[in-house]
Amino acid sequence: MSDPDWYATGRSHVWLPYTQMKTARAPLPVVAAQGVRMQLADGRELVDGISSWWSTVHGYRHPHIEQALRRQLEVLPHVMLGGLAHEQAWRLAQRLASLAPGDLNHVFFSDSGSVAVEVAMKMAAQFWLNQGQRRVKFLCFRGGYHGDTFATMSVCDPDEGMHSLFKGALLEQVVVDLPRTPEDEAALAVLIDQHRGELAGIVVEPLVQGAGGMVFHEPETLRALRRLADAHDLLLIFDEIFVGLGRLGDAMFASEIAGVQPDIMTLSKALTGGTLPLAATIASARIYEAFLSDDPMAALMHGPTYMGNAMGCAAANASLDLFEREPRLAQAKAIGAQLEHVLAPARDVPGVRDVRVRGAIGVIQLDATAPADQLSAACIARGVWLRPFRDILYTTPPLVIGQDDLTHVGNVMVEAVREWSMTARR
Ligand SMILES: *Cc1c(COP(=O)(O)O)cnc(C)c1O
Repeated sequence: MSDPDWYATGRSHVWLPYTQMKTARAPLPVVAAQGVRMQLADGRELVDGISSWWSTVHGYRHPHIEQALRRQLEVLPHVMLGGLAHEQAWRLAQRLASLAPGDLNHVFFSDSGSVAVEVAMKMAAQFWLNQGQRRVKFLCFRGGYHGDTFATMSVCDPDEGMHSLFKGALLEQVVVDLPRTPEDEAALAVLIDQHRGELAGIVVEPLVQGAGGMVFHEPETLRALRRLADAHDLLLIFDEIFVGLGRLGDAMFASEIAGVQPDIMTLSKALTGGTLPLAATIASARIYEAFLSDDPMAALMHGPTYMGNAMGCAAANASLDLFEREPRLAQAKAIGAQLEHVLAPARDVPGVRDVRVRGAIGVIQLDATAPADQLSAACIARGVWLRPFRDILYTTPPLVIGQDDLTHVGNVMVEAVREWSMTARR
């Protein structure tokens, strides 16, 4: 079967993400998707092992979300949020506030994860500015990833975070290793004290650092950060864009698993079940109230054109319905248990450094930067879509994936790694 017309004619005009356009393999044309499967133009089917960048948690074309979108399209696809209100955004804000831990009750909508983190940083900095304190820097962590815009690049890992070229052009933050022991916590307290008066807050991906390398840490680390934030009067920002909304299985949010309430939390990725771009920055009462004033300049001066988009909010409301009606958390836990089992044989493959699973995230880490292209091609040849990076081959499947498909995804990962180990690795 030949490539579709649109593919050939658009090909030299689309600039792809994270891609060296000179040397990259041609992207695969997808013509349809259903459940956990994508259909390619040449008729092949691939099981989506990474849920389209961790978003399609209910699978593609879930009828409940589609129905909500169709209904919304006929009533009100979009209206600006400046000065106007609409039902879907109002309902979604109320639902997110009641789901989010503690008094995280105030929801600012935007259209991408990076912007949600930008807004969180802006809120935190202005929280202090509104009180006459110029504290605009952040404490953040090696291995962290928070987005690709200028402010979010500054809180990513400065070397591994894909943005090292921009060193010197970015805001300078205080970047440290995550504290994993009481000694680490004590050392960090000293460092924070040295930066007294300039730090606005701490930005962290709770429990799993995703795009920075799928590295896990324990709830105690988050409790230590909460203690440090309280002791030094810093705001704590949890970027739950990857792990939030059920990915970890034990609860909807990492903050609940750790029993730690942040001051600000960001959500995106799975928020609309992978159908439309939408993000939320959710602030506590203390943060929100610091913006209430008779001075118009004390307001949060931010407002993406498409914020609170009605189609996006309708999709998110439908996605939250599914989390309520269907056993997504139990499914995520079951995926974890099954991945432990299916990925285990990779431990014995020469060149494999680590195999780890948390919630519905399964990771095989290799001892060297593997040729991601080769690993990816090996998986595609076996009917599974995965997108390895650096030394990491991972799966974050749709939470609705069936046992047979998941076994297949896991087996394919192990086979791809075996093949790499036997042929390419020297
Ligand atoms: C993906 C991601 C972002 C950025 O979201 P975009 O929608 O890609 O801008 C930010 N933080 C974390 C933890 C992410 O995983």
